[in-house]
Amino acid sequence: MSEVCPKCGLNKELCVCETIAKKEQVIKIRVVKRKFGKLITTIEGIDKKDIDLRDLSKQLKHKLACGGTVKEDTIELQGDHAQKAKHALIALGFAPESVSIG
Ligand SMILES: [Zn+2]
Repeated sequence: MSEVCPKCGLNKELCVCETIAKKEQVIKIRVVKRKFGKLITTIEGIDKKDIDLRDLSKQLKHKLACGGTVKEDTIELQGDHAQKAKHALIALGFAPESVSIG
């Protein structure tokens, strides 16, 4: 059974809502230090109404070969992956000019 997009009503394979939405996101990538000095890369600014954050985090974790989680509107990846995460997001269809680090 194929899923139908709730926005446009098209079959998910034909739907381009997420493709369009990806170009509209303003994404901020930050590397923060957590307890015990562990580094976490956070990816903020993606609207979870437009983008499936869990699915996106799964793809990022696979591409970067790291662990991670989704908290509210933020994807958290274990380790310092700022540059790699930016490249991975662009490869996934996000606009290069709207992905900033820092
Ligand atoms: Zn759609």
